[in-house]
Amino acid sequence: MQQKGVTVWFTGLSGAGKTTIGDRLSIYLRKLGYKVEILDGDQVRQNLSQGLGFSKEDRDINIRRIGFVANLLTRNDVIVLVMAISPYREIRNEMRQLIGNFIEVFVNAPLTICEQRDVKGMYQKARSGEIKQFTAIASPYEPPLSPEIECKTDQETIDESVFKVLTKLQEQGYVSGEFQ
Ligand code: ADP
Repeated sequence: MQQKGVTVWFTGLSGAGKTTIGDRLSIYLRKLGYKVEILDGDQVRQNLSQGLGFSKEDRDINIRRIGFVANLLTRNDVIVLVMAISPYREIRNEMRQLIGNFIEVFVNAPLTICEQRDVKGMYQKARSGEIKQFTAIASPYEPPLSPEIECKTDQETIDESVFKVLTKLQEQGYVSGEFQ
């Protein structure tokens, strides 16, 4: 099977569902025999970007590092799943230009829903001021203007969101076969 590389870039607020959708998609693709790598924002910050903060400058450095690795993998025919808040539109577009084979997925849930989910207890800490510069509370989030895919995770199931991404990968010739 000749595989073609692509970066699927999940952007959205903390708790919107990037990791949930990306992880499930990776399991599915690996079962089908595809080479998949995950670059998860939280993991990258613990390794490649240790010591970086959450100013715009540091966030941009973090995203450029992720993009650099994603580009290397994409060039080597890997399906790369990036899950990172990546709140700034300009740097996401810069990564799109750099990588070329690029699918942007806007994982969209309203702030109120993300805050209710509060998967990691971060919103509570951001509201109390314990965490500074938290996206959508004390730092901007710029939604994509024309993403290839939008997953409204307050209105669709996880499988519906995963299926949307799979269908796009199929339409663009990165995966083939029947999905259910
Ligand atoms: P992020 O990676 O964007 O910070 P997570 O994936 O960690 O977000 O958390 C999203 C939460 O929302 C999970 O608890 C997940 O079960 C829930 N959820 C509910 N519906 C969906 C959906 N359609 N897609 C993704 N996540 C969903």
